[in-house]
Amino acid sequence: MLLEFRVIELKMKHEWTIATGVNNPSGGSTAVKTVVIQLKDGGLVGLGEAARSGRYEQPTDVIVDFLKKIDPSKLSFDNIPGSMAYLDTLTDKHPYHDSSAKCGINIALLDGATKKAKVPIYDFFKLGFKENKHISSYTIGIDKAEVITKKVLEAAPFPILKVKLGAPNDREIMAALRAAAPTKTVRVDANEGWKTKEEALRNIEWLATDPNVEFIEQPLPAITPAKEMAWLKSRSPLPLLADESYHTAKDIDFCVECFHGVNVKLLKTGGISNAYEALQVARKHKMKTMIGCMVETSILIGAAAHLAELTDFLDIDGNILCNNDPYIGPTAENKGMVTFAGATEQYGLRVKARAADPFAS
Ligand SMILES: [Mg+2]
Repeated sequence: MLLEFRVIELKMKHEWTIATGVNNPSGGSTAVKTVVIQLKDGGLVGLGEAARSGRYEQPTDVIVDFLKKIDPSKLSFDNIPGSMAYLDTLTDKHPYHDSSAKCGINIALLDGATKKAKVPIYDFFKLGFKENKHISSYTIGIDKAEVITKKVLEAAPFPILKVKLGAPNDREIMAALRAAAPTKTVRVDANEGWKTKEEALRNIEWLATDPNVEFIEQPLPAITPAKEMAWLKSRSPLPLLADESYHTAKDIDFCVECFHGVNVKLLKTGGISNAYEALQVARKHKMKTMIGCMVETSILIGAAAHLAELTDFLDIDGNILCNNDPYIGPTAENKGMVTFAGATEQYGLRVKARAADPFAS
């Protein structure tokens, strides 16, 4: 087995800011790095991707350091659990560390294994995929009111918006959004930006006066004690979804106590295999389920799309927030409707490089 990776830079259509970055004096991001991965065994190629994350202390250099530690001869398309167990031996930090690099390898292994078996990943998991059913939200990052209005008007074809709040100008952001899209369905992501349960409740009660706000994601910091989060859950007029509080299936008991649903991300779970488990466990507990994303290429977006049948909500727009995605596969770029119709690759992840393959040079 041969392991290759490239750090590439995705150019953002708009400067990108969320609650954790509002105090950054240099402003939002205009480009976001990600690490694309290739595993090769004979003629078989598995594609993977490891998204960077400041929140989870996994910048690209941490991801690259981990990938360099891997002995590819210990990885096999024929033994994914064994290969993942080997990766766990390479990390001695907190179990959540290196989840992004492990995610990248897990996707590449599954892509290779399912190409070999001549099935798409969604059939490997016996989920299937229904066309014309799954709509992804389109995300509006934190910004000045006039930019919000412009972004929301540009997002007119998308029927569901996700708006990032948790900034000092939350009310201006919502007013600007509503000026441009008065009745569109909106999901709010506070990204841990409200600091006390009382502040969060005030904000949620204000947002609930808008009949088209669907739910609130991560109103309080993940370190907030369960008792305070449960206090908020019992009073919240809108459903609360855990994002930063739900890494893997292991966090389910805390989330059942404190939230109505969970947002699963492959970066947090360490790949598709664990994301499948995190979604199934949440569904068994009657929690609402969602898959979210980072700013990432069609590799990670595609990987998430294969699990769509396990979700109530999707937020897989990372590849359409940037304008130089080097890959093509399942996408929600047309009105948010997730489709495999443009995916020319039949098996595995159903993702291919465009003309400019990052691995061609
Ligand atoms: Mg979130």
